[in-house]
Amino acid sequence: MSAGSNVAQRQPIDGRHRKMFIGGDWVDAVSGETFETRNPATGAVLATVPRGGKQDIDAAVRAARAAFDGEWSRFKPYERQVLLLRIADLFEKHWEEICHSDTLDMGLPISRTRANRNRVVGMLRFYGGMATALHGETIDNSLPGEVVSFTHREPVGVVGAIIPWNAPTAASIWKIGPALATGCTVVLKPSEEAPLTPLLIADIMAEAGVPAGVVNIVTGTGREAGSPLAEHMGVDKIVFTGSTATGQSIIRASAGNLKRVSLELGGKSPVIVCADADLEKAVPVAAMSVFANSGQICIAGSRLFVERSIHDEFIARLAAYAEGLRIGDGIDPATEIGPLVSPRQLERVTGYLASGREEGARLVTGGTRLTEGTFAAGNFIAPTVFAGVRDDMRIAREEIFGPVISALPFDTLDEAVERANDTPYGLAAGVFTRDVAKAHRLSRRIRAGSVWVNTYHAIDPAVPFGGYKMSGYGREGGVEHLHEYLNTKGVFIRID
Ligand code: NAD
Repeated sequence: MSAGSNVAQRQPIDGRHRKMFIGGDWVDAVSGETFETRNPATGAVLATVPRGGKQDIDAAVRAARAAFDGEWSRFKPYERQVLLLRIADLFEKHWEEICHSDTLDMGLPISRTRANRNRVVGMLRFYGGMATALHGETIDNSLPGEVVSFTHREPVGVVGAIIPWNAPTAASIWKIGPALATGCTVVLKPSEEAPLTPLLIADIMAEAGVPAGVVNIVTGTGREAGSPLAEHMGVDKIVFTGSTATGQSIIRASAGNLKRVSLELGGKSPVIVCADADLEKAVPVAAMSVFANSGQICIAGSRLFVERSIHDEFIARLAAYAEGLRIGDGIDPATEIGPLVSPRQLERVTGYLASGREEGARLVTGGTRLTEGTFAAGNFIAPTVFAGVRDDMRIAREEIFGPVISALPFDTLDEAVERANDTPYGLAAGVFTRDVAKAHRLSRRIRAGSVWVNTYHAIDPAVPFGGYKMSGYGREGGVEHLHEYLNTKGVFIRID
């Protein structure tokens, strides 16, 4: 293992200020500016972090390029594999600290952050395994004479990764893992709403012996740090997870050097409940397809199509389930529903609640901000179900990113499919039925990157995940994911 001497050091913790990680050093922004990150359950300031800008992005890209051209390029696949497996072990060792960090910084209940362990650690081990499984091909050609032709798979280079706040650990690993497996280097810009876990992950990278400059984390806003990263002429590829609107500006920003782009964007995912479904099982899964993480999930099954004959019963059961959920500070292990990430997100979601009422949807449960007692300091919204929703209402068309279900009755499966597909998005979908033929037909006809039948949220490292239509392009997970970080080179050698 040639980790060498150029290995990063863990961050010295200095009170509540955290530094960012460039070229193996813990640094402040060149401007010296900082911003605060707060606990969304209490409003308390957790830490200050550097407010990185263009100069910091330049420094990080230089460090990433130097590492890519230098020591890192001599790492063999097996050495990268060992490194990834070591990182996975360190994630297990520090898992409680990681869960606390995510819960404090963005509000996801600790019971759920803990439950993501296998998803994150499994992903690291999957990438570790793949590091030694990547290969080119020899290809028979039809050229005159004796010419051998084959392909090499080469790392694409310096990868700029921009992530949202709703799943900081998984989003970081889904970007850094494939980069390490393929031999790329990374400059990662976390969301300004939740920068702390990515900085903790930088610590783990240092502890694992990742060479300096291979993984760099620059904290800052989208405009000041994200945009210069997307535009940077020294970046070979951008991997972005976030809203569709930002994804569109990333594409425009990437045009300067035609860098490769992959995008995991928003959604307005349909869930179709057929009359033959096992309602006992379908109700909690359909509810949590939206209410998990307070609806701040790209795959939220926020348009609930229910076959008319069971519609009223299903909605009544759903409302009862929603009312029984335990809302509170995510740090309490009994909490099922935490706060929204920020006052801005709270304002956005309450705006949609008002819009649903104004457009004539019937509020079945929820629909309000919680302000009593300790809730007052945080950004809490009661899990909400609207019935009587029409397909053209804003709550049925736009991504809310809050705990809001819009229920819509349907009569025939053809109609359900047509309405489910009538959206600019295509990220995910759910189907509940006991009829295997319906399960096959619906999963084929729905235009979305993931379809779950009688389950939801199932994500596996070996199965590609990503969007159709305006939910983005490119895949994360599976072998396809690694290919996004590779260039294919064709080589011809004349041997006669
Ligand atoms: P966002 O688009 O506002 O921000 C995402 C990231 O982009 C942040 O780091 C932000 O600082 C940065 N950014 C903002 N403007 C930028 C710009 N002009 N140039 C470069 N970077 C910029 O999204 P968000 O509010 O943080 O996250 C919620 C969105 O993310 C939702 O739409 C959700 O559906 C989507 N999301 C998608 C997936 C997926 O896998 N498809 C997963 C999680 C979240």
